Amino acid sequence: MAEEIVQPVRKCIYCGGEVTGERRGEHIIPEAIGGDLTLKEKAGKSVCRHCNNEVLSVLDTELCRRSHLSLIASQEIDSSLWLVWDIDHSAQNLLVEARPEWEDCELRSLYSYPQMIFETNGPQIRGDADEIERLGKDQFLNVMIRAVYSAFERFNSGKKRVFHFERVRTDLSSRSYRLPPRVYSPHSIAEIAQDIQSQSFVFRYLTTADRRCALRAMSQLDLGNRKQFDRYAHYLGSRTPSISVFFDMGLTIRAMLKIGFNLLAAYCTNTIVNLDTFPQVTRLIRGEEHLKPIDIAGSGFVYAEDVEDLARPRCHCFRITSLEKEWVIYMSFFGGRVGSVVSFPGPNREDWNTMDIIAPLHSKEWTATPSQLFLPLKVRVEWSKHEAITPSLKLQYAQTRMLVKDAPAPR
Ligand SMILES: [Zn+2]
Repeated sequence: MAEEIVQPVRKCIYCGGEVTGERRGEHIIPEAIGGDLTLKEKAGKSVCRHCNNEVLSVLDTELCRRSHLSLIASQEIDSSLWLVWDIDHSAQNLLVEARPEWEDCELRSLYSYPQMIFETNGPQIRGDADEIERLGKDQFLNVMIRAVYSAFERFNSGKKRVFHFERVRTDLSSRSYRLPPRVYSPHSIAEIAQDIQSQSFVFRYLTTADRRCALRAMSQLDLGNRKQFDRYAHYLGSRTPSISVFFDMGLTIRAMLKIGFNLLAAYCTNTIVNLDTFPQVTRLIRGEEHLKPIDIAGSGFVYAEDVEDLARPRCHCFRITSLEKEWVIYMSFFGGRVGSVVSFPGPNREDWNTMDIIAPLHSKEWTATPSQLFLPLKVRVEWSKHEAITPSLKLQYAQTRMLVKDAPAPR
């Protein structure tokens, strides 16, 4: 008789669902900001594919690519990490896809990605002013139109991953910014020119109606009739950009709570850390419960100087503290250039009350130092003052805008 090997059923710590086909699993801190270690590698804990890819990855995007943290990450890791828009005030505050170009810690300019924007009166092509001048306007238009045309044809014939659809969730209406649907490429037009027939584009839109309109406009692109773009050819990217940081406060807090919860799951050896023992925070993270004022008051970005004692160069550093069923986790990212705090209730069966964790960027060699002392930090939560949250950054024209969005109602 063949021996039967019984695999223990692994359950997702966020939803309790059965975990199948897990590969590396959930990163304790997002991979996008240099967090290499996963929950599975550190503690053998699992997160199901649905939670990992859909529920939780949205949160990582908001924290790592939109919030204050993304500004620093764009300098330390990859400038394309910061999802930033240039604003064309001459076109009724049109938001233009762009990435920052840093010089030391100062924003030198924004580079406008090559993009086709689908305005109601027809598509427009935009790009970086310097690049267009270098390449010549005709060549720029030619390459861009052919690349988008080819992408649409491949998309239409069922090819996958031609367009990366991204629905923008930010509410722009109250500041009268405009975000018509658009496709853009993170590559330069010279790179696109080398292989026009196989480009993919990010396809960004606000509503499904916008998405339909843009697809229809692409189906009507006429390669033979270059005139359809002539009247738009003079719009160049702004040379002295004003920029904005747009992010959703609710998603960002949930992303921070997730890091805190992951750290507990990774480093608590006696406490069971899952949705049954920490129902409140896991429901918040999964978006099944609304954030209450107390969640917002006790969690968020902090004055960077308040967590500077934790900081180590080229490391993300954390302090986990626990007292009377309340957990508080202090976070210092990128050597202390930006910090945050989260707090939430939950049991503690550990023999320590404070643990300091040092996570070097792009490394699995994390260190953890437990202590029986209770060593809280005095921190001030702050959401909008750049000079307090990211003092190492000089942003002359920066404005911050954020909003709290309702999570879906509990089932
Ligand atoms: Zn799950």
